[in-house]
Formats: sequence, structure tokens, C-alpha cells
Amino acid sequence: MMIIGNRDELIQATQEIVRIASVKDASAGEGKPFGEGIARALEYALAKGRELGFKTENFSGYAGHIEFGEGPETLGVLCHLDVVPAGEGWSMDPFGGEIIDGKLYGRGTIDDKGPAMAVLYGLAALKDSGWQPRRRIRIILGCDEESGWDCMHHYLPIAGKPEIGFTPDAEFPVISSEKGILMVELSGALQCPKGIELVDIQGGNRPNMVPDRCRVKLRGIEDEGLLVKTATKIGAKMDLERDESGITMVFKGVSAHGSMPETGVNAISYALAMLHHLGFEQGIINFLYEHIGFSHDGRGLNIEVKDAFGPLTANTGVISLEDNRVKVLVDIRYPVSFTQEQILDRLTAGLSADVTLLSHGGKGPLHVDGDSQLIQILQRVYEKHTGEEAKLISIGGGTYARALDNAVAFGPVFPGQTELAHQPDEYISVSHLVKLAEIYGEAIAKLGRPGRD
Ligand SMILES: [Zn+2]
Repeated sequence: MMIIGNRDELIQATQEIVRIASVKDASAGEGKPFGEGIARALEYALAKGRELGFKTENFSGYAGHIEFGEGPETLGVLCHLDVVPAGEGWSMDPFGGEIIDGKLYGRGTIDDKGPAMAVLYGLAALKDSGWQPRRRIRIILGCDEESGWDCMHHYLPIAGKPEIGFTPDAEFPVISSEKGILMVELSGALQCPKGIELVDIQGGNRPNMVPDRCRVKLRGIEDEGLLVKTATKIGAKMDLERDESGITMVFKGVSAHGSMPETGVNAISYALAMLHHLGFEQGIINFLYEHIGFSHDGRGLNIEVKDAFGPLTANTGVISLEDNRVKVLVDIRYPVSFTQEQILDRLTAGLSADVTLLSHGGKGPLHVDGDSQLIQILQRVYEKHTGEEAKLISIGGGTYARALDNAVAFGPVFPGQTELAHQPDEYISVSHLVKLAEIYGEAIAKLGRPGRD
């Protein structure tokens, strides 16, 4: 059993890097493509790497790596140092790195700066024990994982793709498959019922989030009581605002990750249901109500499919109105046995004539065979450290594993733990952090020097 000798340094480094608010911002010039905070976090991690005796390289601020050893192949451990904005609802300082009752709080503690530091100190403990790899080890520190992955698009062509890897950025035990991601933009002409004008509809910020707000502004309705009664009837949480230009209904939902739409409450669905009840029975609003409504399995869009790894999910993440056309962004996660073309073909066949597929984009599914060396080793490491069976799981989220040809997500969240990534009061317990350093250190030991147990 490997002992983490520098436990206190690991905790301190995690606190310090959490205190750097590495939220994406406009470029701050040369070497800082994602802004000042992210550049500082990357420099901090690389400096720690050098302090611990490793070689480091900064790839123009897009990403960096911390390297140990030589070998014909490279083992890449893909972490990221950028974080999503703190958001509302914190009872702690999101960039304070405080420890209370054994919990280290802050944005990025579990996603993904804490795991990144655990990997670094796990590798340091290995090196200090005299261990030598047969594969070159690279801890790759991406800086744009939460947005467009421009970090990996810049880094991989220059540094090369590691032949094998894992990413500590999802869940344990081992994620052997990730659904395909398909983002589609649908649009259609607005048609209002007689006497009512839909002045505006705006909901959600990003397709990959379940929208917790949708604002609908109407003209031509005077009876606020009718709106309140209808909201009650459809089970909507709604506030009313009134000014001289009309009534605005603000629908409230519960935010969640777009790959798990069933765990949130979609505010756009309630807005569509309200409009339907008010007589919007034609055009795009009617289509969206009838074909998406409250469902998140793609059934009304002709794409309700599933395989042994689970069902397709669809999240209506954003709705907007411009030039009398309503546009929605739908985030579709399809099972690994389907291709993007198959899903698109089914989807276009299911659209009515007056609805247009404006654009689409996405990432293909990922599947690594359960018999592969990568999965077998990670399963053994997990079982040894937890005493639990290392089941293979499938997720809808997209991790960095997709950036390589032979990589999977491995941790950091244990089965049964609450998912705190992107939530207020995100934390990692100190014991969890130390455990991660042990597990990741051993995973690197076994993958970096395969063939010996
Ligand atoms: Zn992450």
C-alpha cells in the first residue's frame, strides 16, 4: 500500500489553487487565452510540479503538462484547472479554500482542481519511493474543459496524443462508455392566437444545463388571475411582473446537468405548457409543446432509442425569440451503439414541415472494451482500495477521455456520494482527497509500468 507522505502539502496546494478564481474570461494577452485567473492557476500547478522534481511545459496558456520518466508510449492523466462560475447559493466563500469539519470548500475542489492535485501528489509519492515508469507519464492540465475544449484542440496536435490515459473528472468505479453528444438548433415561425401577442420568450443559458428560468412576455392578456390559475393547474412555479408594455411570466425550474435532464425541472417545459393552455396551438410553440413538452427521452422527436448502456436523453436547454422566429437548443445524448447520422436522420424525419434544423454539432460516443489492459488495471486498483466491485458504467456526460483513443474516466466521485460539481458549496473532504492521491498514485504505478503487480 502506497503511503502519501506529503499529505499536508497536498491539502495546502489544493487550498491554494482553489483560491485562484480560474473562471474563463476574455483573453488577457499573450499566453493567457482564457484570462488572468486560468493563467495563474496553470502557472501555480506547473510551479508545484517543478518544486516536486518534475519537468513541466506550458503550451501558450492553453494547457500544460507535468512529466516524469521516459518510454516508447505515454500515459496521460487528463485533468483541468478551469472552473465554472461560482453561481448563487453559497454559504462559504467559493474561492476561500476553507476547511470546516474536514471538508475543503470551494469551486473546483471536486471538479477538477482537487483531483488534479491528488494526481500530482500521488505521482510525487511514487517518484519519492524510487519507482521508475516504463511509459512516459504526463499529467495534462487543460484550461478550457468547461467550455469549448480549445485547450485540447491546441495541446494534442503539438504534444501528441498519449497512447493510454484516464481522467479523474467524473465518477468511480470505471466509466467505460460515454454517450454521443449531439446539439441541435431548431427554429420555426411564431404564430400567436387571436388577441394575444408573445412579445418575448427567453429561457436557459446553455444547452447542457436544465434551464431554471424562463421568461415569457405577453401582451393582450389582462386577467392575471387566469394566468395564476393556469400555472396552478399545470403545476408551474411562476412569478408575475407587470409594466406598461405587458405582463411577464417568470417560470422557475431546478437546474441540473443537461446529460441528466430527468434530475432537474425544466422551466421551458412549463412556459410551453402555459402557452399551449392560452391557445398557442399552431406553429413552433405548438410543435415544441407537442413533441418535446415535459419529455426528456426524445420520444416526440422520433429519436427515442436505447441500448444495453442506457437510453437517449434530450434536454431543451435554451429558448429565444428573434425576428418572429422561436429558436431552441436541444442537447441530445445518444447511446454508444448509434451514430450521429442515425440520430440526425431520425430527427429530421420527425420534424414537421414548418420546423427547421438550423445547425448541429457534437462529439461521437466513446467505448473502451472491458477486456482491455486499461480497464482491467483500473478495476483492480479500485477494488484493492475500496473492497468494492469495480463495475463498468456508462454516462451521458462528456469527459476528456473522448479526446484520446484509449482513455476512460476514473473517479473522483464514489458511488453514493452526492454530485457537487457545478453546485453551490462544492467541497471535497480531506480524507477523500488523500484517498484519491493513493488511488491515482497506484493507477499510475500500474499503468505506467504494466506487466508487474
Ligand atoms: Zn470537470
